[in-house]
Amino acid sequence: MKEFFQSVWQLLTQIRVLDLLDIALLAVLIYQLIKLTRETRASQVLKGFAIVLIVSQVSKWLHLDGLAQLMSYIMNSGVVVLVILFQPELRRALERLGAGTFLDSSTLRAVAHETDGGYVAAELQHAIQDMAKSRIGALIVLQRTNTLESIIESGTVIDAQVSRELIENIFVPNTPLHDGATIINGGRIVAAGCFLPLTSNIDLSHELGTRHRSALGMSEHTDALVIVVSEETGIISVAEGGKLRRYMDQYSLSELLGSVYHEQETRGINLGALLKRRNGGNGKKQQKQSDD
Ligand code: ATP
Ligand code: MG
Repeated sequence: MKEFFQSVWQLLTQIRVLDLLDIALLAVLIYQLIKLTRETRASQVLKGFAIVLIVSQVSKWLHLDGLAQLMSYIMNSGVVVLVILFQPELRRALERLGAGTFLDSSTLRAVAHETDGGYVAAELQHAIQDMAKSRIGALIVLQRTNTLESIIESGTVIDAQVSRELIENIFVPNTPLHDGATIINGGRIVAAGCFLPLTSNIDLSHELGTRHRSALGMSEHTDALVIVVSEETGIISVAEGGKLRRYMDQYSLSELLGSVYHEQETRGINLGALLKRRNGGNGKKQQKQSDD
C-alpha cells in the first residue's frame, strides 16, 4: 500500500505545468465538440466512433487479435469517412479559422443553435408572446428528465429545430397539427398534436377549460414544464409540478425559459440549486393556483 502511494506521489511530482495546460486544452476542445454536436447527426457519428475506439482498446488489452485488427482497419478508414461526411462543415470551419473569426462566427450556427439554450429560449418566448397577442391558443410541453414516449406516440412526430416561425405555424387554427400539445426537447420540436392526460382536480375555476386542465394533468404526471396560451383571453400560464401559474408577463416568462434552458445545459451539475432558485423567484403579477 505504501509503495502504491509512493509511486502515485512520484507520478504527481513529475507533472509539469505544460502537462496541465495540455490536459486543460484537451478538455476545452472535447467539451466544445460535445456542445456543438449534442443532439445532432454529428453526435451519433461521434458516439459510434467512441464505441469503436473503446472496443479497439479493450480487444488490444485482451489480445483478441482478430477483433483488434478489424477495429484498427475501421479506425484508420474512420477518419477518412468523418472527413467525407462533414466536408462542408469542416471547410467552413477552416475558412473561419483562417479569417480569425472561429469562436464567435456563424460557422456551425445551424448545429450550434440546436444546443444554444439562450437562442432556443428566445425563439420560444417570441412565439409565445406573438400567439398571446393574436389570441392563438397554444399548448407547449418542455421535456425535462422524464421521457414522454407514450405522449409523443399520440401525436405526429416532427423532429425539427425550434424556431419562432415553426411554432407559430403549428398553432394556426384549423390546421392539422394545431389541436393538442407540441412537445419540445431541448432545441428540437419533437411532435405536435399530442394528447395530454387531464387533471383529476375538480376544484379548478370554470374559466379553465380542457387546454389548461391537460397542461396541469401533464405536470402532475411528469416533471415537464407546460406552457399554455389561452385562445379566449391571450393569458399565458405555466403548469409545473401540479401547479398552475397564470398571468405570466414578458419578464417572468423570460426568466422561466432562461432557467429551464440553462438547467438543461448544466443538468447533472447543479439542477437542485436551479430548481430551488426558480421556485423561489416568482414575479409579483403571478397568481398561484394550487391543486390541493
Ligand atoms: P382557452 O383558454 O384557449 O379557450 P381552455 O382551457 O378553455 O383554453 P378549451 O377551450 O377546452 O380549453 O381548449 C380546447 C383545446 O385544447 C382543444 O382544441 C385542444 O387543442 C386542446 N386540448 C384539450 N384537451 C386536450 C388534451 N387532453 N391534450 C392536448 N390538448 C388538449
Ligand atoms: Mg376555452
